[in-house]
Amino acid sequence: MSVWDDLPGQGKTITALSRAVAEGSPSHAWLFTGPPGSGRSNAARAFAAALQCTVPDAANRGCGQCKACVTVLAGTHPDVALISTEKVNYQIDDVRELITKAQDRPSTAPWRVIIVEDADRMTERTTNVLLKSIEEPPPHTIWILCAPSPADVLVTIRSRCRSVSLSVPTRAAVAELLVRRDGLSEAQADFAARIAQSHIGIARRLARDEDARRRRDRTVRMPLRLRGVADAVMAAAELVDLSTAEATAAATERAEAEAAALRTALGLDADAPVPPQQRSQFKALEENAKRRARRSTHDALDRSLIDLTTFFRDVLMLQLNSGTELVNDYLADDLRSYAAASRPEATVAKIDAIAEARTRIGANVAPLLAVEAMMVALRPAK
Ligand SMILES: [Zn+2]
Repeated sequence: MSVWDDLPGQGKTITALSRAVAEGSPSHAWLFTGPPGSGRSNAARAFAAALQCTVPDAANRGCGQCKACVTVLAGTHPDVALISTEKVNYQIDDVRELITKAQDRPSTAPWRVIIVEDADRMTERTTNVLLKSIEEPPPHTIWILCAPSPADVLVTIRSRCRSVSLSVPTRAAVAELLVRRDGLSEAQADFAARIAQSHIGIARRLARDEDARRRRDRTVRMPLRLRGVADAVMAAAELVDLSTAEATAAATERAEAEAAALRTALGLDADAPVPPQQRSQFKALEENAKRRARRSTHDALDRSLIDLTTFFRDVLMLQLNSGTELVNDYLADDLRSYAAASRPEATVAKIDAIAEARTRIGANVAPLLAVEAMMVALRPAK
């Protein structure tokens, strides 16, 4: 077992990162890039864990079992900060606070590691504040910035970071992870990897949680029952409700898993009371979970819209006779009759309508409003 186990299909990246750890003098600024679901923040956490790992032999750092590894992965290591924003952009004051934190010497570990998720959500002015600290970092501080692609951060930042790019894992690599780690059957794992389009975290949830699968299924079938405007309004309300339920369930599952991992790390039984000197660690975990929950509702709705897009993507593939595999292969009959009853141009317009709703929600339009307008546009043409 090691901290790298959950990064399917990233062999080359893992080799490079392990080498950087083993050599003992890693760069002070890193830029991890990869599309959502490729595991870029997991990779950043794994790297942070390996940097802090207490195994004596540097070549084996990232053991996944020592207290440093476990607490970094659980998000409670005192010298590793994982920063994300619930807002569209980072606030300049948040970044100033980070930079102050970066000046502190680590309390126990060799490094102070600061992981910035969504480094693409920084305005130029905010980035310039960060730049100074990245140019002249304190000797014990390591910055890890995460973004979808190198082009998403300013060139001034990019040029000062060592770049690590993660690729989208293949469906087979994701399925293999689900079989090995989560004990799923090959058929279950392959199905989940396919409908999640190789997004690791989503695939795992769908594979393990029947309710999550049911919610996704309700979502992708929605176009099949849209007729009048009234249907569209009802479907919009249902989509928002399903996303909220999914966000709550996903956040609860993750919080429970983190608490369980922390108990294991601290050697506490599942039901044992937490001793006073360790309560602050559990408290930090709860704070993280609350912060994430606020953001996860938005993310879950966005994911539902991506799921809905897969319906029309499949319809388009059938209409164009492309021979490409269907994401929602299990709905092949419904998809075929839907495809036969409409034209590719109409399908493209529907895909655009979903994309527009995603953009509007990203720009803070009330979700229900944006989704209603979209559902109206998704009705089949007469
Ligand atoms: Zn370790």
